[in-house]
Amino acid sequence: MSDEGAMRRIRPIFTEDEAYFWTTQPGDPLRLARCDDCELFLHPRYPVCRRCFSRSIGAAPVSGYGEVYSFTVNHRAWNAEPDPTYVVAIVALDEQPGLHLLTNIVGCQAEEVRIGMRVAVAFEADGDLRIPVFEPVTE
Ligand SMILES: [Zn+2]
Repeated sequence: MSDEGAMRRIRPIFTEDEAYFWTTQPGDPLRLARCDDCELFLHPRYPVCRRCFSRSIGAAPVSGYGEVYSFTVNHRAWNAEPDPTYVVAIVALDEQPGLHLLTNIVGCQAEEVRIGMRVAVAFEADGDLRIPVFEPVTE
């Protein structure tokens, strides 16, 4: 990440087939793997659709909205970060039941995160990568 003091991440290792997820450009929507034939989203990406067994798997944009399905708060310092506190969450995306994304919740204090809280995607830049994280929806 480019922000000083922000959480240090281990950069993901991914294949060309998964680049749509990690290398979006500013202004681009979050994109997830989707079956080209039956339009079922598949995250993480699978080589075969679990519903229709098609091997034609592409990527399609999602709204970027969802809710916190589950979460945990890390307080352990894994490196020299001044504040090791961060939230690891499973976000249930609005597009289809069971479409979950393992991510971080940012933009609020860890103690403010609640199961069922509405969240929206917010990308964090890390060099040439853009990491999808989520922040509370403020209405
Ligand atoms: Zn399918």
